[in-house]
Amino acid sequence: MIISNYHSHFKLDDGNGELHDYAEYALSQGMNIIGTSPHAPVYYENDWTMTEDGLSQYLQEVKALKKEYKERLEIYTGLEIDYLGKNGGPNDDKWNIPELDYKIGSVHSMLDPVTNSELAVDGPVEELEMLLKNRFNGNIKELVKKYFQIEEEMIAKGGFDILGHCDLIKKRNMNNRFFDENESWYKKLAAEMLDTLKGSDLIVEVNTGGISRKATKDVYPSPWMLKRCLEMNIPLTLSSDAHKPQNLNFYFKESIELLKSTGYREIYFFSNGIWHSQPI
Ligand SMILES: [Zn+2]
Ligand SMILES: [Zn+2]
Repeated sequence: MIISNYHSHFKLDDGNGELHDYAEYALSQGMNIIGTSPHAPVYYENDWTMTEDGLSQYLQEVKALKKEYKERLEIYTGLEIDYLGKNGGPNDDKWNIPELDYKIGSVHSMLDPVTNSELAVDGPVEELEMLLKNRFNGNIKELVKKYFQIEEEMIAKGGFDILGHCDLIKKRNMNNRFFDENESWYKKLAAEMLDTLKGSDLIVEVNTGGISRKATKDVYPSPWMLKRCLEMNIPLTLSSDAHKPQNLNFYFKESIELLKSTGYREIYFFSNGIWHSQPI
């Protein structure tokens, strides 16, 4: 079986370690393909995306890395790009960078009208609480609804290949702090978002990053959503959202078992410009 991961960060964004360390770790684990996907710069100052200069440096570094590992490991150049409504997204012309092999589209934040700043849904819980209060008057259903609506907008606009952690909104919801995922209103909103994937060419990632950071018990998307993906014939790929080399294949064995028990018989990997299916 080909073991691949297309979602990883490194020292030029909010990850740790050099690209080289990721390649070495992948080899030590018998992985076949890695893709790097640091956070693309956004319109506001922050401490978690690359800078514009960092982006140029990244493209140079990964080019050299590909050369160095040519005979031993397939390496692909990606970016994780935030969808920020009118303030930017994967579909922007600026991301038509010839060196890029693929793009991940993600939603990490929403605009807070009171402070006029982007507040993360996956950052400190206080930040999510502030967003909830300032923009949604404390109404969690409205916040979740908006989150999935923003994802739907991003999906409709396209310009990317992999849908990043599509239910990231649950990251700060350990022990049902904000909502119960089993309630029908939540399931309806999440399912509606998945429905918009129909007819798109998008790959959905099964992302283990919430578990490696001890924030969630489940992968993104949750097992019940994976069932829905299967019914809709949506292709999946495995990813760890690694922020350090040692997490490159974190929880992969368990995730493959989960997919099998969900009914999946295949997953996808990207190689030489196209997505390939392989049995699991
Ligand atoms: Zn992300
Ligand atoms: Zn990421």
